[in-house]
Amino acid sequence: MPARSITSLQLGGKKVLVRCDFNVPLAEGKIQDSERIDASLDTIRYVTERGGAAVLCSHLGRPKERTPELSLKPVAEYLTNVLGKKVALAPDCIGDITGKMIEMLKPGDAILLENLRFHPEEEANDRDFSHELARGKQAYVNDAFGTAHRAHASTAGVTRFIAERAAGFLMMRELEALRSVTVNPEHPAVAILGGAKVSDKMGVIKSFIAKLDAILIGGAMAYTFLKAKGVGVGRSRVEDDKLVLARELLDEAAAKGKRIVLPVDHVVAISADEESTATVTQIPVDMMGLDIGPATVDSFIAELSRAKTVIWNGPLGLFEREPFSHGTMRVGEALANMPGVKSIIGGGDTAAAVGHQPWSKQFTHISTGGGATLEFLEGIELPGVKALES
Ligand code: ADP
Ligand code: MG
Repeated sequence: MPARSITSLQLGGKKVLVRCDFNVPLAEGKIQDSERIDASLDTIRYVTERGGAAVLCSHLGRPKERTPELSLKPVAEYLTNVLGKKVALAPDCIGDITGKMIEMLKPGDAILLENLRFHPEEEANDRDFSHELARGKQAYVNDAFGTAHRAHASTAGVTRFIAERAAGFLMMRELEALRSVTVNPEHPAVAILGGAKVSDKMGVIKSFIAKLDAILIGGAMAYTFLKAKGVGVGRSRVEDDKLVLARELLDEAAAKGKRIVLPVDHVVAISADEESTATVTQIPVDMMGLDIGPATVDSFIAELSRAKTVIWNGPLGLFEREPFSHGTMRVGEALANMPGVKSIIGGGDTAAAVGHQPWSKQFTHISTGGGATLEFLEGIELPGVKALES
């Protein structure tokens, strides 16, 4: 059952608890990347424009107790700027002072509660804490897709105490985009998988073998699959304890008539921080594969150009270093420029790798979730989404 959208709520005159994902990177108290905040602005504006008072809340970092460096103060200041109205920071997310500040809010106002994780009860999904968080609010909107795979007080517990609840616009966009991959995708549907480890993405690979037509594998993950097939991978990163599993996945795909496309050439070096690199079809025993080679890039692009739906998770090389970023960038740019292909990008590092490129606007959707996106693609029901159902 898809979650209800915020547009189905009557918000006028209500205090609306809005769970956002303001978990932004900070350095010396300055926001390094405001994307996550910007992604929820339409939800916040909708609440205030409909005459609700927005009570915004989020976690920031992983504090176990009150930690001044992890205050949401910079976020309150940023919101005050972009919304063009004062967004005060409450001294806490619960308690009497905060409660009074919320009581005094007028329709159209917004306030930000202090970091939810200053209370360990947040992650423990504590019942009393959830009750406190709900106090004085008549509606609840969850826009924190990036935290939807966690059953915390602010994402799950609080819904026991607020009947009127729905998903915000960011949450709806995320769910819609990801559902277009997992529920009746338009075929041919192709996945690009990369990144560091097979073990992180086993569930996703299984689910893709069942639902999609082909899987293109690059990144370090590819070397576990190549080694499982008996191909020499030199000193490339391999998960030896996953070789049997990799073999099973290859067999399962073959049995279902699904194609798994592995790299046919590689950019190699003696080590990850080595300047001198080479492009090879066979990896020398003393070298490691750090990016897919140009022939592999061409073969991936050829596959993608026949696809109608593409889901991409995981960089195709050690993109943080320029000599090993070309595979990721060339495949990314080609995909972004394919007309008529629905392209969904997921994964924290993948989004960091391609999300700021000039062509990245042409992707259909770049997911803001890491773990939540992977769990959704695996077919796991997200607690933060389930809690929105009545
Ligand atoms: P995401 O966050 O998008 O899900 P992952 O966390 O699974 O992606 O993987 C990203 C990491 O994988 C990056 O740090 C990247 O440098 C690394 N990586 C990709 N290919 C290789 C490779 N061939 N060798 C070593 N590391 C790699
Ligand atoms: Mg990652």
